[in-house]
Amino acid sequence: MPPRIEGQLSDALIKGLSDPAIGIDRVGMVRVFNDEAGVALGIKPEDAIGRKVWEVVTVSELSRAFMAQIKDSNPVTVEQVMVFPNNRLFAVKVQAVRTDKGRNLGAVAVLRDMAGIQKIERGIDQIMSDLNRSISAPLTAIKGCVETLLEGAYNDRTITHRFLQMINDEANRLVRLVMTLERSLADESAHKLNKTKCRLEDLVRSVIDMFVKVAENHHVSLAVEFPENLPWVEVDRALLNKALVNLVDNAVRYTGINNQGQIVITLSQRERTVVIEVKDNGIGIPPEERERIFERFYRGSDEKVANLGGIGLGLPVAADIVKAHGGTIEVSSEEGQGSTFTVVLPIR
Ligand code: ADP
Repeated sequence: MPPRIEGQLSDALIKGLSDPAIGIDRVGMVRVFNDEAGVALGIKPEDAIGRKVWEVVTVSELSRAFMAQIKDSNPVTVEQVMVFPNNRLFAVKVQAVRTDKGRNLGAVAVLRDMAGIQKIERGIDQIMSDLNRSISAPLTAIKGCVETLLEGAYNDRTITHRFLQMINDEANRLVRLVMTLERSLADESAHKLNKTKCRLEDLVRSVIDMFVKVAENHHVSLAVEFPENLPWVEVDRALLNKALVNLVDNAVRYTGINNQGQIVITLSQRERTVVIEVKDNGIGIPPEERERIFERFYRGSDEKVANLGGIGLGLPVAADIVKAHGGTIEVSSEEGQGSTFTVVLPIR
């Protein structure tokens, strides 16, 4: 390939890079400076090219690294995180460019924006602190109850009964947390679905059976409606069961607060999909929270939600399972009126 074409191709390549790239010659003059470098350093490429690198690059560490590459006889590649204007962090690699015979041609630097990595780290910090809170709240409550009982409250049967009930509730909350975490870890490690042909109405009935007693205690009625000729679907029964359990569990908990609760699960066919709707007439979800409820550890801000002691993993796990089946999950809701979670699953 003639050198002129190579030059044009590498120019296009550098221009098209989504990361900043800078190249200088052996006297320190800027020869390559793409648009991204301009954004990172706040200077237009046309104003940078042709000038000395130390005039253009205001980040002193980068300037120094460049100088070392062109001045030292045996330069060591610099790989370092540097702070750029506006506190942006970049992972920077500055390397000398030498011909095969060792002639000094200059140096190049490629930069990688660390914003994405910082965001992930912040996300992990957030998850850890949410998890910490989810564990320490019930533990503190249990410890408080036990200490009060030990200090003598156990002499009063009514108080003892109430405290034991509280301890039981908090312990159940911890058990749910551990179970949900186990499930969510298992789901993540087992990406493969074990699909079999199944009748959704049977699956839904078995989920409802699990909740009959709980629903009774919460004064909530549970019903299922489906047409006779509903097609079979190919799903991972155990996983889909888990997703539906999470939806029905929420419906029961967030509906049982208002007496006269009603939950209806409707199955229907829509073209090549089967639609499952879990409709309740519970507390509803405020519009600003509807987008966030599928995030891990997100819990509604309503005081009633806080009192019910969930951990904010039910919906994200359900959504992961539905997605793994190639389906979608959506919510529509009206505050104080109720919510409907709609799952759409492809038949095959
Ligand atoms: P958890 O129920 O443990 O808080 P989820 O991930 O299952 O966690 O749900 C997240 C949030 O979505 C809940 O905290 C609650 O605010 C809201 N939510 C979920 N289902 C319902 C429902 N059926 N009715 C009202 N709010 C709901």
